[in-house]
Amino acid sequence: MNKVFVLDKNKKPLMPCLPVRARELLNKGKATVYKIVPFTIIIKDRTAEESSFQDLELKLDPGAGTTGIAINAYYKRGVVLIFAANLKHRAFKIVTNLARRKMLRVGRHSRKLRYREKRFDNRKKSKPKGWLPPSSLSILNNINAWIDKLRRRAPIGGISIEINKFDTQKLEDPTISGKGYQQGTLAGTNIKEYLLTKHNHTCVYCDATNVPLQIDHIVPKSKGGTNSIDNLTIACVSCNQKKSNLNLKEFIKDPVRLKKVQANIKKPLKDTAQINKIRNKLKELVIAVGLPYLFGDGGETKFNRISQKYPKDHFIDAACLNHTGKDVYIKPGYRPLYIEAMGRGDRQAVSTDAYGFPSAKPVTKKRYFGFITGDLVKFTHTVTAKIFRVNPRDTGQFNITDIRLRLALKFRNTKLSNKTLALAKALSPEEAKEKAKKLKLPTSVSYKKLKLVQHNDGFKYSF
Ligand SMILES: [Zn+2]
Repeated sequence: MNKVFVLDKNKKPLMPCLPVRARELLNKGKATVYKIVPFTIIIKDRTAEESSFQDLELKLDPGAGTTGIAINAYYKRGVVLIFAANLKHRAFKIVTNLARRKMLRVGRHSRKLRYREKRFDNRKKSKPKGWLPPSSLSILNNINAWIDKLRRRAPIGGISIEINKFDTQKLEDPTISGKGYQQGTLAGTNIKEYLLTKHNHTCVYCDATNVPLQIDHIVPKSKGGTNSIDNLTIACVSCNQKKSNLNLKEFIKDPVRLKKVQANIKKPLKDTAQINKIRNKLKELVIAVGLPYLFGDGGETKFNRISQKYPKDHFIDAACLNHTGKDVYIKPGYRPLYIEAMGRGDRQAVSTDAYGFPSAKPVTKKRYFGFITGDLVKFTHTVTAKIFRVNPRDTGQFNITDIRLRLALKFRNTKLSNKTLALAKALSPEEAKEKAKKLKLPTSVSYKKLKLVQHNDGFKYSF
């Protein structure tokens, strides 16, 4: 469980404390709640100057989908993970949104054919130097925002960030055969890991999963194929043997299947492409913070995680990053804070249907009865969970979601008992949705029963 952030009376960060200790301080009236998520208390009668500190390291494992965040504390008894979060970005959402906008515009242009003077130069080469596509910029801004937020909450003394997840330039290096295998545990694993991730642990030839997979040369070495990463793919043992020294066209006779396999082999790894775009910017960002910093490598992270027998998760990768992640204690079943970047609404002037025709008036109003989507509210008429994420409606009947559940489970006044809550936590999102349906949980509650406790900050939380 994450520790609670503590601020002194001047809002300077102190060492985070255990939830038990925070509760004690709150009950005794020595502290008050400062922020609900991430939970932060403010102490009334102590200053940072009279407090003692241990070293805290903020660690980040950036991904295009999700970035792992961890804070490790250097206690005398050893290094311990004290705060973890998985930050989900909206990069791919932005890509699809922009593609959709483009399609609407192209469609409109072909319907209303007339010459139009170009209104501005929107070619890529006209962009200022250092310009990033909106999707990459969003990842970068999210990471920046969270470095900032966490530095205001905890006395962080250093930052580690994983920069070379799959450095494709380094992967070009043919360490696959002969000597490479003898160079120890790490040599070559990066390439295989890259290929496995790229193809989702699936044989590219027969789509087999959950079988041992091997690196396969697309153009066989006997026919002049190289060890370059472009010529490598992943195949199950049986396909690898059957293919042997055949070319792709000789191996797959069915032309449809062949086309599919070829496309599959060629597609770039989305995640890597996104991160490679912003790698240098990430470095600059971390350096600009002005704290001691370390840049990490994906291979080392994996080695550290596996040798400590931790399961794979984004925040665990972050905690295991670098040589400082070699020996870190992570409590089994550690629950991170789940953060999802939501954006702050859109500026689309006219909503359209699936065919691009105007369908509804744009929603220009954001605030209803003092609430906007994403505000956290206290709902006093309940026996269990107390904090909800609100989704306001102009009828005054609001949708609310319990943020203690990882999933959007609709909720009514007192219908959800402690038991149900505990059950829902153990369920997968799909199972939970089923459960919610069965319980016939209604969807709305009057705004009069809600009290605003934290403004929307563009992120959605659950834990
Ligand atoms: Zn196969």
